[in-house]
Amino acid sequence: MIGDLPRPREWLGGATPYRTESQQAEVRLGSNEWTEPTPLARYLSPSDLENTLVNRYPDIGAAELRTLLARRWKVEPEQIILGNGSNEVLLYTFLIFGGSGRTLLVFTPTYTMYARLGRLTGMRVHEEGVGIPYGLDAERVHDAVARVRPDVVCFSSPNNPTGDLLDDTTILAAAETPHTLVLVDEAYAEFSGRSFLSRIADRANVVVARTFSKAQAAAGLRLGALVADRRVAAMYDAARLPYNVGALTQLVARRILADESGLADRVRRITEERARVERALRQIPGLEAYPSAANFVLFRHRTMPAAALHAALLEHGVLVRDVSSWPDAGESLRATIGSPAENDRLLEALRAVLAERGR
Ligand code: PMP
Repeated sequence: MIGDLPRPREWLGGATPYRTESQQAEVRLGSNEWTEPTPLARYLSPSDLENTLVNRYPDIGAAELRTLLARRWKVEPEQIILGNGSNEVLLYTFLIFGGSGRTLLVFTPTYTMYARLGRLTGMRVHEEGVGIPYGLDAERVHDAVARVRPDVVCFSSPNNPTGDLLDDTTILAAAETPHTLVLVDEAYAEFSGRSFLSRIADRANVVVARTFSKAQAAAGLRLGALVADRRVAAMYDAARLPYNVGALTQLVARRILADESGLADRVRRITEERARVERALRQIPGLEAYPSAANFVLFRHRTMPAAALHAALLEHGVLVRDVSSWPDAGESLRATIGSPAENDRLLEALRAVLAERGR
């Protein structure tokens, strides 16, 4: 009830905050973070702290950081827009290309922020139900784009929550109409060993979002980036808030980038553990697990509802994500790949819960 309060714009998404798994648990595998404790002190020396002045605004263009990222991604610094987490560059996408009278197309189940941000900016949101297994292909995309005629299409590749890596042809099927903006969210790209970045040079309508929250093990830092054609990047720069990436974030991100072997090591550890967890999940009677190219695995029990399995795991001290309320996700749960010990806790908890239930 709004009563005497000031009246917000009509927002079909409702006024509840984005829900995350915030319950306390010993083993937290709910948010696709890197789970090993990573203190800021790993990246900063006492002299860094002396030399970072907080009375002054940070470099408004984050020039050094964008230069490093441009080198890494083989693009020009002008093509890179930074944000307070990749969610902020997603928001800019909707401020620029969304709004009332425009249409968003997403293929569900997928990251729910796209539809939320679409609705927030007054868009019509078309959720094309793909379901699980996801297996989204070019034909399906082509058909949906022809029918829906969207202004914005969002893909997550690898897809959260299913873990599917999308083919280039699947993405390109949405980009045939030059006035349609196609966002490829590569939050989990490092774990897949693939990226669409090398393909955007001659496609001004495709933009790629990346984050430091997953493989770069810095979800608490809040840094995301978007890579676009230079002219499209200029549109983002016009929408961007000044000083949206702080001095400390810029400095720490540069240090993180310098540690290339750290990244390679994390990716190797996750991909090894992912293979082990996928195999182990499939050996547990009643469970189905889907192949993933990301740092999480989607699974479901053939008869036990997701909410019940989620609650039972929590009683065993293990927090995963119940994604059953996401459109077209069915009764599935998503577990982040953690350390070998954490993954063992998940597997043991699942075996115990299902054994108790079978009794
Ligand atoms: N995109 C996808 C697909 C995600 O799963 C997430 C985080 N769950 C984000 C973007 C946002 O990440 P951040 O804002 O931390 O960069």
